[in-house]
Amino acid sequence: MSAHWDKHSTWEDAEKSWDVRSSELEQSHPIRQLVKIPKLPGIRPKTKKHLRWKAMNYLAKYDEEKFFIKYFFSNPIKHGFNLIRSYLTPLPFTRDDDFFFYGLKNEQEFRDMLVKKNSKLVIGFSYCHKPFECPSGRFTQECAHETNNPVCGQCFIGKCVHSLPTKQVLPVFITTVHQIGEVIVKEVKKHPKLEITYIITACEMTLQMFGDWANMMNVRGLGVRLDGQICNTMKAFVASEHGIKPGMAVVLDNTKTRILDLIKFRRDANI
Ligand code: SF4
Repeated sequence: MSAHWDKHSTWEDAEKSWDVRSSELEQSHPIRQLVKIPKLPGIRPKTKKHLRWKAMNYLAKYDEEKFFIKYFFSNPIKHGFNLIRSYLTPLPFTRDDDFFFYGLKNEQEFRDMLVKKNSKLVIGFSYCHKPFECPSGRFTQECAHETNNPVCGQCFIGKCVHSLPTKQVLPVFITTVHQIGEVIVKEVKKHPKLEITYIITACEMTLQMFGDWANMMNVRGLGVRLDGQICNTMKAFVASEHGIKPGMAVVLDNTKTRILDLIKFRRDANI
């Protein structure tokens, strides 16, 4: 983390040198890119029906170590109340373009959390937007973010990781919803004096399906919608959770800028 950014005295210098190298690498070591962003609905109309029920069913079915069931029953009254309260809202988040806020009204409230000295930021990147040529592999919880690797040098995840501050920040490379859920629960338990918040990239369907569970945990944070070759049916979602993801999801350019602005903001807060 921070390796590239720490070599520069200002954010602007670091970003400029990253972007120049990235453009050069696009010519010298081209990687597979999405040539055209397909126009797909975030969730297919048929899939939208009873989506909250499908989410609950999915979580229970694939909860092999009974992690979520155990967590729920660790405080069933509080968790049940939070879950019902979330189910009573039409959507479990407040949306601002590709930003989905959980337990927060808007970006300003999220920024207020990011500057808190007692906050810890979990930043999770879906494997669905790793490059196909990723040296750590796509369906893995690893990211080598090698300084000299030509693929990492063109990768948005690599750029984020190299720009992240190190203190009270945890990058996570997400393969399944169970994995990221467990990471957040463990962080909450491990740091009772810190407020855990998160930025997580995922398809719109995933952000909608599992928002109620984030609200149940009462952990406030930000989901970032992916575009490109996304999963918008249950079949595609379940396959992707098992590592079958032939398509490439992407973070749109203006959304990339918004994420980097938040990372810069956190870095400048100097926690
Ligand atoms: S930065 Fe991480 S995710 Fe991106 S190509 Fe390198 S190892 Fe893969």
